[in-house]
Amino acid sequence: MLVSSLRLPVWPRLRLVALLISLPSWLLASPPTGTKLNTLHLRVRSVAPGVFVHTSYHRYPGSPTPVSSNGLIISTKTGALLIDTAWDPAQTMELLRWVADSLHQHVRLAVVTHAHEDRMGGVAVLQANHIKVYSTPLTAKRAASLSYGTPTPAIKPYTVIRAGRTRLELFFPGPGHAPDNLVAWLPQQRVLFGGCLVKGADATTLGNIDDADLKQWPVAVRTVAARYPKAAVVVPGHGQWGGSELLAHTLELLHAPSTKSQTALNGRP
Ligand SMILES: [Zn+2]
Repeated sequence: MLVSSLRLPVWPRLRLVALLISLPSWLLASPPTGTKLNTLHLRVRSVAPGVFVHTSYHRYPGSPTPVSSNGLIISTKTGALLIDTAWDPAQTMELLRWVADSLHQHVRLAVVTHAHEDRMGGVAVLQANHIKVYSTPLTAKRAASLSYGTPTPAIKPYTVIRAGRTRLELFFPGPGHAPDNLVAWLPQQRVLFGGCLVKGADATTLGNIDDADLKQWPVAVRTVAARYPKAAVVVPGHGQWGGSELLAHTLELLHAPSTKSQTALNGRP
């Protein structure tokens, strides 16, 4: 089912190895700053039966440590569903290869949860492999001004996707990290994908707030907390997942003094 462009590029790696062997040892001992010797690779970990977190990585210029980004793979009787692509095309190809090799399934469809690169950097790879990518109309509109490909705008503020016995709910709780941020809920597995609306257990800042609505973000988080009180696993867009305490943690970060000074936020909930 997968087109040939999906094949992992084995030969360039072999060629890189051959090149490294032929280099003088003094050069290998101190590679020039910024040389990209370490390729970033996707990780996949299980969080519930048939539900996996895919984690991809991005290296910002001047920062030695790659930043991670989470999405979901949901295995159903009728194929796999993806929530968000990997951060870039290469790791999205690894994602498709993992689904094919480990689940022995094809990807039925993908949903991107807002128009930022970490959510949709691999849309073109999915579309090249004849996988439909869906989003809300607002995300599709915002994506049209970016360069990653445009999803099909078929997701309403509340949409249920059924695949076999699996039920996947998509819900727009209002603006927060981004004006178009969606969350995803798997009621049978009690997994809530908060995406970038929810901060990781290890997060100490709000991260990228270029498109954030800091006034409405706490409202959106409280809406999600009230709607999904049974969540057993909460997966953030970045960093470590946990339980519903991640929602409280996000509210704490939103009410931190450094954030308060930028906004008209009132007291804690
Ligand atoms: Zn984002």
